[in-house]
Amino acid sequence: MGMPQRTHTAGASAAAVEHRHLEALVEGQGRVLEMITRGMPLADILVMIARWVEAQSESGLVASLHLLDPEGRHLLRGAAPSLPDAYNDAIHGLAIGPRAGSCGTAAYTKETVIVEDIAHDPLWMEYRDLALPHGLRACWSTPLIGSDGGVLGTFAMYYRHPRLPTEDDRQIIRLVSRTAILAIEHQQAEEERERLRASEQRALLQAEAERRRLHDILMEAPAVIAVMRGPEHVYELANPLYMRAIGRGREVLGKPIREALPELAGQGIYELLDRVYASGETHEGKEVPVRLDRAGNGTLEDVYFNFVYQPSRDESGVMDGILVHAVDVTDLVRARQQAQESEERFRTLADNMSQFAWMADETGFIFWYNQRWYDYTGTTLDEMKGWGWQKVHHPDHVARVVAKISACFQSGTPWEDTFPLRGKDGRYRWFLSRAIPIRDASGRVMRWFGTNTDVTEQRRLEQQKDDFISIASHELKTPVTSAKAYAQLLALRFQKAGDARSADLLGKMDGQLNKLTKLIADLLDETKIEGGKFKLQPSTFDYGALVADIVEEVQRTATRHTLVCELAPSISVTGDRERIGQVLTNLLTNAVKYSPRADRVVVRTAPGEGEIITSVRDFGLGIAKEKQGKVFDRFFRIEGKEHETYPGLGLGLYISAEIVRRHHGRIWVESEEGQGSIFAFALPLPATPEE
Ligand code: ADP
Repeated sequence: MGMPQRTHTAGASAAAVEHRHLEALVEGQGRVLEMITRGMPLADILVMIARWVEAQSESGLVASLHLLDPEGRHLLRGAAPSLPDAYNDAIHGLAIGPRAGSCGTAAYTKETVIVEDIAHDPLWMEYRDLALPHGLRACWSTPLIGSDGGVLGTFAMYYRHPRLPTEDDRQIIRLVSRTAILAIEHQQAEEERERLRASEQRALLQAEAERRRLHDILMEAPAVIAVMRGPEHVYELANPLYMRAIGRGREVLGKPIREALPELAGQGIYELLDRVYASGETHEGKEVPVRLDRAGNGTLEDVYFNFVYQPSRDESGVMDGILVHAVDVTDLVRARQQAQESEERFRTLADNMSQFAWMADETGFIFWYNQRWYDYTGTTLDEMKGWGWQKVHHPDHVARVVAKISACFQSGTPWEDTFPLRGKDGRYRWFLSRAIPIRDASGRVMRWFGTNTDVTEQRRLEQQKDDFISIASHELKTPVTSAKAYAQLLALRFQKAGDARSADLLGKMDGQLNKLTKLIADLLDETKIEGGKFKLQPSTFDYGALVADIVEEVQRTATRHTLVCELAPSISVTGDRERIGQVLTNLLTNAVKYSPRADRVVVRTAPGEGEIITSVRDFGLGIAKEKQGKVFDRFFRIEGKEHETYPGLGLGLYISAEIVRRHHGRIWVESEEGQGSIFAFALPLPATPEE
C-alpha cells in the first residue's frame, strides 16, 4: 500500500491552525492521563479516548478500540461509541488472523494495517458485508503493543470514504496508541496490585485462623499451658488447667510473672524463665515442687509439676516468648511419698521387733527376712531365699520341720512349730514359729507371713519347773504314803478303844491324804510324760468288769450323784488296765465335780466301728465352745467363779488324753455352756497299745 507524503504548506494561518490542533490534541491527552491517575475505570477511559480522537477530526472520523482476550486469540469490546451497536456486537469476539479485517489482522501481525477501501481490500473479504451497510469504507488499525511486547488490543480509525492517512493522521495514531497503551497497562497493573492485595489479605486471614486454632488447641489441651511474651514473661495465654493449677480466679493475663505470681519469689522459677529466654534453650523439669498461693490467702501449697519451658521465636527467628507446658503430678508424687513412708514404717517395725519375721510367696518360697534374722543367723538373703533356711536348722529337727511346714503351705492352713535355730556363734536357741497365709479378695493365698520367737528362756524355766515338780512329787510320795499308813493304823486303834469320834476324824484325814496322793500321782505322771518315761503295762482284760469296778469306786465318794450306767455287753480289751481305769475315773470325778447342782451322771459304753466308745455325761457347768479345744492341754483350767471353786491342777484331762493317745484311741468333748458336757473316748479293738 503506497503512502503519499503530506506536503506542508508554509502559510502562517495553516501553521496557526496546526498549532491549535496540536494544542487541543495534547490537552485531550492531558485529560485522559488525569483520569487514568484518578483511577477511572478502563472502559470509561477508552470511551474518553475515542471521543477525544473523534473531536480532532472534521472529516467524519470514527474511533474504535478493542482489547485482546487473555489468550491473545480474540478481539473484545473496548470502546467505539460512534459505531452502531449492531456492528460492535458483530465484531465482539472476532478471531484474529492474517486476513481478519483491519483490527484482527493488525493484532495478529503486530503491524499497523491501513485499508484504504474496505469494499475492495482482500483483508476485508469476509467482513465487508458487515461494514459497508453501516457506511464504513476506510479503516486503519494499529496494534497496541505493551511494554513486554505483547499485543494488548487495537486502535482503529474508520472513515466513510476511501482514504489513506496523512502524516498528521499517523502522528495522531501514535499519540493515541501510546495513551491507550498507558491506560490499559495502568489498568492491568491496578488489577495485579488488587490481586496481590487480595491474596495478601487471604494469607493474613489464614494466619489469623491458624493462630485461633492454635489458641483453641492450647486452651483445650489436657495439660497446664501458658504462653509468656518478652523478657518480662508477660502472660499472653493461660489455659483453664493452668488457671486451676495456680488457683482459679487469679488475674494473670497481660501481667509479667513477677507481678502475677509474686509468691514464686525465691523459688528459682523466675530465674529459670530468664535463663530460657536468654539462652533460647528448652528446659525440662521433673517433679519440680512449686509453692503456690492457690487460695489467695497467703498460705503456700506444694504442687509438683513435670514441665517444659519451650522458647518461641517470631517469623524472623528472634526470641519473643516462652511456651509453658506442664502436668500436675502432685497426686503421683504424694502417693509415692506415702508409699515410701509406709514402706519405711514397715521396715522400721519389721527390723526393730524382737521377733524374726519373714515373707514367702504362695508356694512357700521365702523372699524376705527382717534384719533381726540376718543379725542372729549371720546369713544373707542370697543364702536364705527360697528354702535356704534349712541351713540354720538343727539336723535332728530339720526333716520334721520341712515336712510340717510343706504340708501347711500346700493346704493353706496356719503353721506353728518349735525348733532350734543356729546363731552365727554356732549355738542353737529355741524358737516358737508361726506363719499365716495372706489371702486376696477371692481367698487365694498370695503370700505367707511368718515369725520366729525366741523361747529358749521360757523353755529353760519350764524345764526348771518340770524338774522341781518331778523332784518334789517324788520326795512327797513316800512321806504321804507313810502318813496314810499311820493314819489307818491309828484309826484302827481308836476303833478298838471305842473312841468313835477320833476314828471318824482320822477317816476324814485319810480322805484328804487320798486327795493329796492323787495330786502327787498326777504330778508324777505329768513329769513322766514330759520326760518320756511314761510307760504302759498292757494286758488283755474284761472291759465291762473294769467299768463296773471304777463306777462303784467313784460312787462311794460321790454322795450327791447317782452314776447311771448304760453299758454294752462286756468285751475284751488289750491295754493298760490301770491307766484306762484312770481315764474313766478322771472323767467321772470331773463330771461329779463340775455339776454341783445336778444329781446324776450317765456312763455309757457302746461298740463303734472297730472300737469301743465310752462316754460320761453330766448336767453341770458345761464348757464354752472356745475353751473346748484347750481342756486337754497341760495345766489348763477354765477361769471363772464357778470353775475355780474346785481344786485341781489342770492335769487330769492332759494325762487322760496322753493315755488314750498311747492306746491309739481318740478322746473328745461335746458341751454347751450351762448345759453340761459329754466327755468320751474310743479305744480301738483289739487295742494294741504302745509298749
Ligand atoms: P482339773 O484337775 O482342774 O479338773 P482337768 O484336766 O481334769 O483338771 O480339767 C481341766 C479343766 O477342764 C478343769 O479345770 C475344768 O475347768 C474343765 N472341766 C473338766 N471336766 C469338766 C466337766 N465335766 N464340766 C465342766 N468343766 C470341766
